[in-house]
Amino acid sequence: MTDTNNAATAPWHSQSSEQTIAQLESSTDSGLSPGAVQLRQQQYGCNRLTSKASRSLTALIWEQLNQPLVLILLAAAIITLFLQEYVDSGVIFGVVVMNAVVGFVQEYRALQAIESLALAMNTDATVLRDSLWRTVDAQSLVPGDIVRLQSGDKVPADLRLLCSRDLAIDESALTGESLAVTKKVATLPANTPLADRHNLAYSSTLVTFGTGIGIVVNTGDNTEVGRINTLIASADLLETPLTQKISAFSRLLLWAILGLALASILVGLARGQSLLDTFMAAVALAVGAIPEGLPAALTITLAIGVARMAKRRAIVRKLPAVETLGGTTVICSDKTGTLTCNQMTVRSLYLADGNCWQVTHDGYAPTGEILNTNDSTGEISQEVLTLLRCGQLCNDSRLVHADNTWLAEGDPTEVALITAAGKAGLKQEIEQSHWPRTDTLPFESQYQYMATLHKRPEQPPVLLVKGSAEAVLARCINLSQGAEIEKQVNTLATRGERVLAFAWRQLPENQRSINHQDVASLDFIGLQSMIDPPRQEAIAAVARCQQAGISVKMITGDHAITAQAIALQLGLTNAEQQAITGAELALLDEKALQQRVSQQVVFARVAPEQKLRLVKALQQLGHVVAMTGDGVNDAPALKQANIGIAMGQGGTEVAKESADMILTDDNFASIEAAVEEGRGIYDNLIKFITWTLPTNIGEGLVILFAILLGTELPILPVQILWINMTTAVLLGLMLAFEGKEPGLMQRPPNPPQMPILTRALTLRVLLVGGLLVLSAFVLFQWSLARSGDISHAHTVAVNVFVFGEFFYLFNCRNLHGSVWSVGFFSNKPLLVGAALMLLAQLLYTYLPLMQLLFASTAITALDWLAIVGCGFFISAVVALDKKRYQRP
Ligand code: ADP
Ligand code: MG
Repeated sequence: MTDTNNAATAPWHSQSSEQTIAQLESSTDSGLSPGAVQLRQQQYGCNRLTSKASRSLTALIWEQLNQPLVLILLAAAIITLFLQEYVDSGVIFGVVVMNAVVGFVQEYRALQAIESLALAMNTDATVLRDSLWRTVDAQSLVPGDIVRLQSGDKVPADLRLLCSRDLAIDESALTGESLAVTKKVATLPANTPLADRHNLAYSSTLVTFGTGIGIVVNTGDNTEVGRINTLIASADLLETPLTQKISAFSRLLLWAILGLALASILVGLARGQSLLDTFMAAVALAVGAIPEGLPAALTITLAIGVARMAKRRAIVRKLPAVETLGGTTVICSDKTGTLTCNQMTVRSLYLADGNCWQVTHDGYAPTGEILNTNDSTGEISQEVLTLLRCGQLCNDSRLVHADNTWLAEGDPTEVALITAAGKAGLKQEIEQSHWPRTDTLPFESQYQYMATLHKRPEQPPVLLVKGSAEAVLARCINLSQGAEIEKQVNTLATRGERVLAFAWRQLPENQRSINHQDVASLDFIGLQSMIDPPRQEAIAAVARCQQAGISVKMITGDHAITAQAIALQLGLTNAEQQAITGAELALLDEKALQQRVSQQVVFARVAPEQKLRLVKALQQLGHVVAMTGDGVNDAPALKQANIGIAMGQGGTEVAKESADMILTDDNFASIEAAVEEGRGIYDNLIKFITWTLPTNIGEGLVILFAILLGTELPILPVQILWINMTTAVLLGLMLAFEGKEPGLMQRPPNPPQMPILTRALTLRVLLVGGLLVLSAFVLFQWSLARSGDISHAHTVAVNVFVFGEFFYLFNCRNLHGSVWSVGFFSNKPLLVGAALMLLAQLLYTYLPLMQLLFASTAITALDWLAIVGCGFFISAVVALDKKRYQRP
């Protein structure tokens, strides 16, 4: 094979299809052989973009250093160096380095966790290999592979198109042009610009309409996207509305505190204190009062939350979704596959002649009987066979027998039809060889039918159609018994069954392809109706959502009566409420829609385009909306929804690309789980904020008072650095591992406009901050008076802060109830962190090296008693305070 990068070869768009195939040594009949694929995989590597991790690595390091606080610290280190305070200078330098390393490691790990989730969602490709069309991971594609595209797919590699049926591709990722480009196969001049090369399909672009076949010409980094490699810039991956708010708040605080620090220098100088003393006091103030660890801690809490959600089969693609999930007030869910099992079994057949037949046995195994309802001894009629054959041929799925089990490959609705036909002895391969297919109009939700064209021996070709009863019946002629059929459809639907109608027509001898105009003047064959039981876990999840004040709505393309019956079984609605259909929705204007939408639970025969209207109407009413979708046409609604949810198994790539979250199991229960996790994560964020702010307030005020009163600083700058560094890592961060509070899903969602800290929590933060200041000040003066040793008094004050935070940490484990209600031992990392903190504090107080670095000194048992007493006291006061604000 010629090297694809060989400059001597003509560009792919200027070669004819035949030339391209020949050059890549492939074939449109059989594709590549497994041997050739393996060889080329070795030669060209994985079809994957190399991530630009190295670049974001340096960016990450730079971010750690380019923070105002770090710059202040660096300035302080340099100034103390000039003032020949070598120990202080060394400690400050050490802290800067430590801080950068810890921050870097944590952010890097958070990023890795999120990136690995993104990578876990692989793209599939339909490829012809060894004469069989199969679904493979797009990473395994090699140049020469023949690939099939259909609407909803993400183009898996750069392709030279060989065949296009109305193929339209959204290339905005590459060209910025948002209008989809219609693709053709004709050869183009060599100098055609990139955006006009209509016979190429580019990797990572999205198929919005039609179908096509192409041959892979470039993979991985050799593709056009590979060349511009726009892998999402990792930095903004970690931003959410909350973290942005907090960062803005921190910046504001920074300037305010710097102003205060400057003022304090002036006050000190005016008092006649030395420049060194006032400067160090100002540094202490800045270091203590600025909540520098806050943004990083939030990021880490979010990352841990994302990993937890992934364990519960909800993959978050956009980080802000984690927060929004907690505030969700409405979930609009699909029916088939999400609320139901999507394990279909045909139960009954209805024929144009008015006869009904029952099909026995559930499951995909083609064993069971087909019995006439009136005469169970009768033979299976020719009409029944025609109906079953139509279901088997107008079908893109397969029933596979492997290891003694029958597996569905493709759409369960279609596999059920294959199984039903199998029960009458029809075999798909045999039927297909009798009536080979020459063309297909694939099923699309907006048309609600699928049609195929088949050659027949010694007869004109036949068009087979299957689809929803409405769509098919509307295209039938000679329907004398129309009312009777409709009655039958309703009876079947009332049992919650999904009804498909089948019809056919002959086409002129020489016709080899079809379009939607051909699907008319059909002859009705019959109905097949199948059960799709509700998921048991969805029933429980719906109940939990209702308890949590979240309303669940069903939006489906299925029949209104079927949808209503399933909704009843799920406990979504009651018998008085009727489903509303897409046709009825279309008649409502925006105002009427808004009035209707909040009461209405079941929306049936809804076209994907109508979902967007529904989302908007709900949002106008102030709802936070989570909406599921799987098709191409669902993309706008998924983007508009506060949380767009795509299906990992059944969903198209276009839907996944537009979604905030992907369910790996397509299961409604996973949405409920994600909402629960979202609430838990939000709680944990608030817990960290509530825990950390009092320390900053306390430290800031202690220094400020000392400056204003002109007394000794109770804590020195390096000591403040010690407190902040150790407690944030060993204590505060451990709150990210806190489990969910009991009763989490029994309370209503947080109102969207709720401030980060409620009034009750703000008061608590101020209260604890005040108590910390008071304890530190009093104990500092007390031990100074007792011992006359300033180091001793400093050590006591430092310990007061650390132990105050230590005890208060346990209060913060639960925002609403006591620590006992979540189980004292339930957060193991926190207990380990707390134990390490105790050890660190003993070393700080007694280890000679630490005493040298931090000017600490051994203290007495009485001191310890007073310190622990203060911590205990603060914790007890908070526990009492909680009682006052407990939720009813
Ligand atoms: P849902 O919202 O329940 O997933 P769909 O949009 O998938 O509904 O399907 C809507 C209707 O289209 C179904 O009620 C059925 O009548 C018809 N239908 C579903 N799948 C197919 C298919 N593969 N071929 C033909 N018709 C189908
Ligand atoms: Mg569906």
